[in-house]
Amino acid sequence: MSLWAHVQQGPPDPILGLTEAYNKDTFPNKVNLGVGAYRDDEGKPHVLQCVTEAEKRLLDAHLNKEYASIQGPKDFRDASAKLALADADNALAEGRVTTVQSISGTGGLRVAGIFLAQFYNFPNKDRAIYLPTPTWSNHLPIFRACGIEPRTYSYYDKNTCGLDFKGMMQDLDKLENGSVVLLHACAQNPTGVDPTPEQWHEIATLIKQKNHLPVFDMAYQGFASGDYDKDAYAVRHFCEQGMLPFVIQSYSKNMGLYGERVGALNVVTTDPQQASAIESQLKIMIRALYSNPPIHGARIVATVLNDNDLHALLLKETHAMADRITSMRTRLVEELAKAGSKLDWSHIQRQIGMFCFSGLTEQEVQELISTYHIYLTKNGRISMAGVSSGNVEYLAHAMHAVTA
Ligand code: PLP
Repeated sequence: MSLWAHVQQGPPDPILGLTEAYNKDTFPNKVNLGVGAYRDDEGKPHVLQCVTEAEKRLLDAHLNKEYASIQGPKDFRDASAKLALADADNALAEGRVTTVQSISGTGGLRVAGIFLAQFYNFPNKDRAIYLPTPTWSNHLPIFRACGIEPRTYSYYDKNTCGLDFKGMMQDLDKLENGSVVLLHACAQNPTGVDPTPEQWHEIATLIKQKNHLPVFDMAYQGFASGDYDKDAYAVRHFCEQGMLPFVIQSYSKNMGLYGERVGALNVVTTDPQQASAIESQLKIMIRALYSNPPIHGARIVATVLNDNDLHALLLKETHAMADRITSMRTRLVEELAKAGSKLDWSHIQRQIGMFCFSGLTEQEVQELISTYHIYLTKNGRISMAGVSSGNVEYLAHAMHAVTA
């Protein structure tokens, strides 16, 4: 009997497992619409010009490779917090925001979860976090691993392929006061359905009234509308209403820094003393997890955000990525009609950000994979970033064939 005989083969990751299957597929026109990573119109991974320019400058500066501080470099943290919060409620000017660099969005959520598990006064015994249904599949294991129980609130309306605003408000209202509520700041994953500014106002009023703790997952700032301020509207509005949200940022999508693993966790507090105490506790947690964060991605982000020209270039480049995705939404709807589909696909254009929640059933998805070599998650989520001028017609034909 071997030492590890009891260890069973685990299931593949629902998203990254798809990429593995895609890589093994030898069909020449295969399409990967699984992973949420931007592709250019040639279907190739895209490195932003502002990033390449920042890297040149970093190379020329002959920087050393010493450890970063536990919480990451200050020029990175200051610029990151400013990008997310701007001057909302004067929180940054008053020194009452703690920002730590994180191992991208995933790491930021995980550190937030560990902090909440240790310090938040949960109103419920099993320490619940409330997640929209559906949500990014990784939210569940991340919070479970922190000893926090994932529970759900209504979000998506299957009938309209839009927001179930009434259901969401009713569910948030029913929760015990002081519950922890996760909100996608923009470009909700997987649905691509966001509340309108007016709906955000109502959500904020209710969350404040119920004294819930808002935890914003902001993985797509700039990517939803192409405008960083517009995409941060909800986060800043909550701050302006006097709430103290957690805001988790990722630079994977908006700067295309997927593999650099750079992001940040911001905690808005009431005063600098609290901010300092929270920072000290986060540092203790981070030290035990991975000691200190990787330096290269943080240097790129700091260089871009702190230089006027590179910052302006970033805004332009993010806008161009968002625009390409929007134009593919339009093309896909047009091609579906051309292919002869009589179904209503207008939600593809109404939804926003990297994903389209197509409404395809699990069986239809299976057929797309096995017959057409088009890979997407079984909940029917299409990564619009993988759609290009070269494959949109093929995709539309296949979607029509499996739904006709
Ligand atoms: N949150 C959401 C909603 C996401 O979609 C993703 C990535 O797909 C992440 C967080 C985390 O990504 P990363 O760890 O690359 O920043």
